[in-house]
Parts: sequence; structure tokens; C-alpha cells
Amino acid sequence: RGGGSAVPRTPAAARTYELDRRHVFHSWSAQERISPMVITRAEGSWVWDDYDHPLLDFSSQLVFTNLGHQHPRVVAAIQQQAATLCTVAPQHANAARAEAARLILSHLPDTFEKIFFTNGGADAVEHAIRMARLHTGRIKVLSAYRSYHGGTDLAINVTGDPRRWENDHGAAGVVHFFGPFLYRSPFHATDEAQECERALAHLEQVIALEGPGTIAAVVLESIPGTAGVMVPPAGYLRGVRELCDRNGLVMIADEVMAGFGRAGRWFAFELDDVRPDLVTFAKGVTSGYVPLGGVAITGPVLRTFDDRAYPGGLTYSGHPLACAAAVATVRAMEDEGTVAAADRLGRDVLGPGLRDLAARHPVIGDVRGVGAFWALDLVEDRASRTPIAPTGGTSERMGRITAACRVEGLLPFVSSNRIHVVPPLNISDGDARAGLAMLDRALGAAEG
Ligand code: PMP
Repeated sequence: RGGGSAVPRTPAAARTYELDRRHVFHSWSAQERISPMVITRAEGSWVWDDYDHPLLDFSSQLVFTNLGHQHPRVVAAIQQQAATLCTVAPQHANAARAEAARLILSHLPDTFEKIFFTNGGADAVEHAIRMARLHTGRIKVLSAYRSYHGGTDLAINVTGDPRRWENDHGAAGVVHFFGPFLYRSPFHATDEAQECERALAHLEQVIALEGPGTIAAVVLESIPGTAGVMVPPAGYLRGVRELCDRNGLVMIADEVMAGFGRAGRWFAFELDDVRPDLVTFAKGVTSGYVPLGGVAITGPVLRTFDDRAYPGGLTYSGHPLACAAAVATVRAMEDEGTVAAADRLGRDVLGPGLRDLAARHPVIGDVRGVGAFWALDLVEDRASRTPIAPTGGTSERMGRITAACRVEGLLPFVSSNRIHVVPPLNISDGDARAGLAMLDRALGAAEG
């Protein structure tokens, strides 16, 4: 079972595996090195692999199945929409789209008035930047190192992680700054308050040196996710808001990963009690069942386009199947108390459980997170905080830990030197505890 196992795949999975290897071009991968897991069925927090073995999904795939797999209400809504009206072009109105926009706005501050729908997160970020540029008449965009904003040309260049290096011509006007990250503080800070203060002073300087009159927007994840679930110190987002106000910059909160309950709030910026000007979302809005993203827009930016056409659009903007999935997802989350459940899960189960793992495994240097949004930062040794080499790097340690998880029956989200613990928001306490026990044994096996 797992990589290199002598046990054969089920015949159907073996055929899928061969066809996929031969014909499917995989993201972020050297094509000759891929060995994709075949998933044939899934239910709630569980998926079944090539060998028809169940795996507990601590990844929510790419952090999107916030309601778990095959939630009956979302499946039924998609089926019903498909049976009624599969699609209409964006220039026509449609009940599913109108209701999705209303419902999404009902969970945002009342300063937000309209939704521009996209197909996913990267195009939401691109359109938010386009709106900010047209609104301000300025070009520059400030974004954080250690961030992820998408894989399209502008979004990857706005992104502040090493994958940008593959595309290192950069993008006109994109300037990076350091966000707060106490564990590996760019500011040599020793506590959260100091980190916050220094990060804001740094951003203030970047704005001053770049020229406030040239900057359209600051775009940042309310909680940087892919780069390591770095929950910002209290007051940081509020400080960014003040800097944006003082300099006339549009504040774009990228909530593609952190939004729709992941952080135990509908949107993670609520944790710092701020109101951004534009919010990008995707992933959890449909639990990932049908691709959908969007930009939520506040009044002042919206007014720019009252008399002036917005020069942008997408064939599938607000696709009815996706919007029907969004309506059912948001209603299920409301009725089932999913956001509060994620908050409690973080407080009562994942937070204490992961800190307990850290007490027993010296490889865990830091535990960070909130709600159903956590990461273990794995280190060579705790004193130096040197990250252990990532999967595909010279050390096979990350690979060994990932393989040990699979043997235990656990599917985590692994990124660089980190294990992200990002299960469905409605995972049962029993399953969450079982997953933590699997992780405990996997870390032990990989260390031993
Ligand atoms: N922004 C953030 C914060 C993300 O986490 C992601 C995806 N991981 C994106 C944007 C890009 O979204 P997509 O892959 O749907 O284009």
C-alpha cells in the first residue's frame, strides 16, 4: 500500500492510474515524477484510494471541501439545477446567481454591495487588482513575501513564494513586503506585539519609498495559508487598514483559503475586526464541488463603474451550476452551524491535540492556526528552527513522514517543510482525534 508497495491497485484504479500518467498534465510537477493517488469515491471526511483503502482527509483536498465530500444538500442542489437549467451566459440574470450573490453578501460587512463572480481564486485576485487600478488610476500593487495568490501570470507574480521564481520576469508594478511571522521574524522581534508594530512600520516605509501616489492596492491573505498558516498578530490587519486609508490605497483581503468558515469565522478578517475594500473568495464557497470564485466589492470602488464600463469579464462568470452549489453550501453552513463548529474544533480538539503532539515530537518546531486551519512547522532542530528539507529536496524526511501518514490511513496537506491540518469544518471530534493519533504514529514511525 502506498508508494513502492507490492500490493496491486484495484483493476479500475490501475487503468485510471495508467491513463492519467500517460495523458494528464499535472500542476506544479515534473511530469515524469508524478505518482498520483487515485480517488474513486469519497464520503464526508473520508476518501478511498487506489487500493480501496479509506483515508481520513486532513487536507480537504486543496483546502476546499469545507463541508466534506458528497454533502447531500449540495449534491441535490447541483442535480436539481442541472435538471432545470445547466447554464446561462453572464449577461442574463439567473435565480441561482442572484441568490448566491445575496447570500454571500449577507455574511460580509454591510459596506459590501455587489459580487463579481469568477471561476476560481487566481482570476478573482486578478480582477480585484484590475478594479483597484481602475478605481485609483494607479498601477503598483503591494503584496507579501510568504503568500500565495494563484497560478495565473499576474497572480503568480503577486504571490510571494518560491514558485514565483519559475516566472521571475515579475509583473509590472508588483512590489513585495514582509508580513508578520514571529516564528521566523524578518524583524528580529521577540513577541507578537513587537512583530506587529515592526511589520506595520516596515509596510509604512515601503509605501513611503514606493510613493503612495503610485500604489493602487495592498493585497494580502487575512491569514497566509499555503505559505504556512501564519495567523497575524492582533492589530496587524487593522494597522494595514489605517495605512491604506491614510494613503488612499485599496485594501484587498484574499480570503480564497481562509474564508467561508475555515478560520472559525465566515471571513478571517473578522478576527481583527477590519473592513477591507475588496474581498476575494473561492474554494469553500461551494465546498469545491463546482469551481467558483469571486470579488466582493464595496461602495466606493463600485461607484467607479456606475457610468464607466468595467473592462473585464468571463464566459462562465456566475455559472448557474456553481452558484446553485454555493447557495446550498452557504445555507447548509448556516443551518448546521458549521462556522461555529470550526471555531470550537480549533479550540477544543485541533489546537490542544497538535500542541500535545509538539510536546512529544521534537521535529515539530511550531504549531500555528485557528479553527480548522493549522500547520505544523517541521524543523531540523528546535534551537536553529531550520526547516527540514521539503519533499523532493535532498532530505527524504518529508517524504517519509508523508508516506507514514498514508500507511496510517491519513491524508494531510503537505507543503514545503510543513504538515497542514485542514480537515473539513464539520469533521466529527472522533475522526479529528483519530486523525491526530494517526499523525502521532506517523511522526513516530518516520523518526524511529
Ligand atoms: N488565493 C489564495 C489565498 C489561495 O489559497 C489560492 C489557492 N490555493 C488562490 C488564491 C488561487 O486560487 P485558484 O487555485 O482557485 O485559482
